Amino acid sequence: NTFQDLGLNHDLIQAINDMGFVTPSDVQAQAIPILLNQDTDLVALAQTGTGKTAAFGFPMLQKIQMDSRTTQGLILSPTRELCLQITNELKQYGKHCKGLHVVAIYGGASITEQAKEVKKGAQIIVATPGRMKDMISRRLVDISKIEYAVLDEADEMLNMGFYEDITDILSHTPQEKNTWLFSATMPKEVATIAKKFMYQPVEITV
Ligand code: AMP
Repeated sequence: NTFQDLGLNHDLIQAINDMGFVTPSDVQAQAIPILLNQDTDLVALAQTGTGKTAAFGFPMLQKIQMDSRTTQGLILSPTRELCLQITNELKQYGKHCKGLHVVAIYGGASITEQAKEVKKGAQIIVATPGRMKDMISRRLVDISKIEYAVLDEADEMLNMGFYEDITDILSHTPQEKNTWLFSATMPKEVATIAKKFMYQPVEITV
């Protein structure tokens, strides 16, 4: 049970070796083959600290086009801290992926600076819902061509009152994208989001 067995490419395996990861975690072993090989929506019940960032990050990094600066992946997370943590992890995981640009969008920092970064072109945007919605309404960011949307810590985002923002953000994304939802718990609000925005998701529990 190795990362090679899961079907990850050379660039990612090299980063995995650099970081000293030896064995895929449970959520990684379950999610990575599904996300690499199927164009499907996914609901994953997984706690923090289980390696879920890599579980969605590796497949996203492998599937996006690095030779295009079009935004292809959007990750929504509840807090600025988590947003920055995910961004840093993705940069580590993708450090051998030539041409990769990941941008973090979150409240409490200069919107002008963030807009400037977005304008250079980023394949992946990691965002908190409030600032993301704001930048969409000001036309500072274009997510009309994304292929992958991740709702990370979906239960936390809903607890924090981001339902309307998430709905608004997703309404600016293409219908055909795949949505990958990660949540530590499955209260009915999360099930409602899954039902409303996802099509026949594969479900995994760790
Ligand atoms: P996460 O749950 O995604 O926040 O990951 C928790 C921590 O575990 C992060 O610091 C990762 O760098 C690390 N990590 C993720 N996957 C693995 C793995 N397969 N082996 C060792 N460490 C890992």
